[in-house]
Amino acid sequence: MNSPTQFPTQLIDRFGRTVDYVRISVTDRCDFRCVYCMDEKMEFLPRARILTLEELALVGRAFAELGVRKIRLTGGEPLVRNNVIKLIRDLGALPQLAELVLTTNGSQLETMAHDIRAAGVRRINISLDSLDAERFRRLTRVGDLSQVLRGIDSARAAGFDNIKLNAVILKHRNDDEVIPLVEFAAARGMDISFIEEMPLGTIGDHDRAEAYYSSDQIRADLEQRFMLLPTTETTGGPSKYYRLAETGTRVGFISPHSHNFCDTCNRVRLTAEGRLLLCLGQEHSVDLKHVLRTQPGCLDALKQAIVDSMAIKPKGHDFNLREQPLIFRHMSHTGG
Ligand code: SAM
Ligand code: SF4
Repeated sequence: MNSPTQFPTQLIDRFGRTVDYVRISVTDRCDFRCVYCMDEKMEFLPRARILTLEELALVGRAFAELGVRKIRLTGGEPLVRNNVIKLIRDLGALPQLAELVLTTNGSQLETMAHDIRAAGVRRINISLDSLDAERFRRLTRVGDLSQVLRGIDSARAAGFDNIKLNAVILKHRNDDEVIPLVEFAAARGMDISFIEEMPLGTIGDHDRAEAYYSSDQIRADLEQRFMLLPTTETTGGPSKYYRLAETGTRVGFISPHSHNFCDTCNRVRLTAEGRLLLCLGQEHSVDLKHVLRTQPGCLDALKQAIVDSMAIKPKGHDFNLREQPLIFRHMSHTGG
């Protein structure tokens, strides 16, 4: 009789980094078209090319059994995927997972927040780049601010342990909103993180180098109004955190340009198409869909492919805003 395959209890890459966090893109589709994320005329993948909910659940299980403790569902917009609540429930039931979290644009939260919480998600990130309806529409091209604000209210009522806002700040587009956004978060007991724009995919809307607004600049702007106390807190992601002395609100900065965080990278990403990306800023990947479709339901084959992928996780990204993007996939394909 064959003995069962022995797999490691932790994923460790060749640079000694432990990978215990996976971001899963459940769809490349989205109901918004944010100017920094997508081209106005995006082509989405045909349904047959993206992983089924059952395949996504099996990948989640494989990772959890290999020591992954945190899964984030993202996209595209994860909440526009049909029956995504079923997937959330399946992943929420994995005994090895310490955390199942979700990043959303908030458009569907008004009706879905309660079910998401009940399915096992305890922390949620909601993207919000502007509190001005017209500007919000311009940044998202189609989004309705009032719908997102109602979604945020529903999320607050649904009893998540923590809600964090994410804002991408672009010079001359919304850099004057950093103080109002922090005030908005603080008044509602939410955290907020600011993200520097990354050169993923061609976007056509603006010159990314010209729109660059650094985390250091945002912090300096905030210090005009608030006292920011540095903390060593981490949520297992790349954010560097401060707390407002006034309210205790946590303010994070995700700074791929000004503060490279590759040395402590603990994550990999799964695209909606089933490509396992070993680095956000490089093309190294493994085709897990091929494994899933040639050996359907075979957990061991999936685990072996994941273990083997650790050998090609690159040391780091080399983002450069002044050159053509080296990475042609958009953030929505990547599982941002
Ligand atoms: N649709 C969901 C949302 O917007 O929250 C989840 C997917 S979205 C790709 C995840 C996060 O990536 C959002 O907070 C968004 O603002 C951010 N993002 C998208 N494109 C980006 C880029 N080029 N640079 C930096 N952040 C980006
Ligand atoms: Fe959609 Fe999120 Fe990309 Fe905006 S950032 S277009 S909401 S996937």
